[in-house]
Amino acid sequence: MRSFRIGSAFGIPIKLDLTFLLVLPLFAYLIGSQSAQIVELLNEILGANIGDEIFVDGAVRWILGTIAALGLFVGVLLHELGHSLVARRFGFPIDSITLWIFGGVASFTEMPEDWRQEFAIAIAGPIVSVLVGVACYGLFVAVPPAGGGARFVLGYLAVLNVVLAVFNLLPAFPMDGGRILRALLARTRPYARATSIAAEVGKFFAVLLGLVGLFSFNILMIGIAFFVYIAASSESQQVQMKAAFEGVTVRDVMTPADRLHTVSPETTIAELLSRMFSERHTGYPVIEDGRPVGMVTLDDARDVQPVEREAYTVADVMTRELVTIPVDADAMEAFDRLQDHDVGRLLVVDARDDVVGLLSRTDLMTALDVVRSTGTLDPNESGSLAD
Ligand SMILES: [Zn+2]
Repeated sequence: MRSFRIGSAFGIPIKLDLTFLLVLPLFAYLIGSQSAQIVELLNEILGANIGDEIFVDGAVRWILGTIAALGLFVGVLLHELGHSLVARRFGFPIDSITLWIFGGVASFTEMPEDWRQEFAIAIAGPIVSVLVGVACYGLFVAVPPAGGGARFVLGYLAVLNVVLAVFNLLPAFPMDGGRILRALLARTRPYARATSIAAEVGKFFAVLLGLVGLFSFNILMIGIAFFVYIAASSESQQVQMKAAFEGVTVRDVMTPADRLHTVSPETTIAELLSRMFSERHTGYPVIEDGRPVGMVTLDDARDVQPVEREAYTVADVMTRELVTIPVDADAMEAFDRLQDHDVGRLLVVDARDDVVGLLSRTDLMTALDVVRSTGTLDPNESGSLAD
């Protein structure tokens, strides 16, 4: 992540993403340049009675715009703290809160699967936003009419924090409204099923939001729609996998060492390619003196020009960095490790660090298909899932 820490609140690190530094001046600019319309709006809905004279000095609108934009993000931060503190009360540790282009994200190491807890955590953010809005309104009322600038900022923040709460309550998973929807669905359904329904509703709203954004030329809204769509899909997939892989270990889905096809560092690229072709494998562990020394894939081999394939050996092109996984680890952990290291295969090792098998992304996906269609994964029959 391109983010850096700016401090902490209640022991939770607060981070700024670089995209936030882009969006903050943009908001300051938008608020400043639309100050006349905002004054009109505040006068109409809050009876603010702010006169245009506060903007006589040209610089004032930009200063107020900047203060209001900063205030807006403080509101977002408080919203995320609302989620985080409730989650922590239930015993879920919070890694950090990050402010980025679309607002804030509180990242949890673990998410609750108890619908009551998820419901409480999800609704805490919008509740905080409404309270912040009410507090801003209280201050707005308390400031005498002479303080036009302060009333402008406070009135704006009162309205915007309530808008933020309402927007977040849209049932567009993974926004708060989507999480609330999932929690309510999970009362009577398995968690994975509730997630997939909530994700479908979320995708529908994402498309709707995207269309509205498109017709109103609102780039930020199109961005949010895109983000919601992607996040809904990936969270749904994660939860489905987690449910399917319940109790499944790496041992159940790996290709065991005795069925493993390996190559040595001296194997020529020509030989490697012909083996890949005949054995229909696209990746091999490279073994030297019984120890793994690297991994070689079709992509590595393809980088060698055809005329040089007799001269080059596996040792010249293989990846020496080996990503391993303990044989007793959960299948889901293996999936996370593949994602984190952006590799296609993991070397499976036992407690003494000896290689006992290989686990490819394809092995995991095939296992997932088997579990989904049959409901179980019989370890006795699944030893040789195609690579
Ligand atoms: Zn929220």
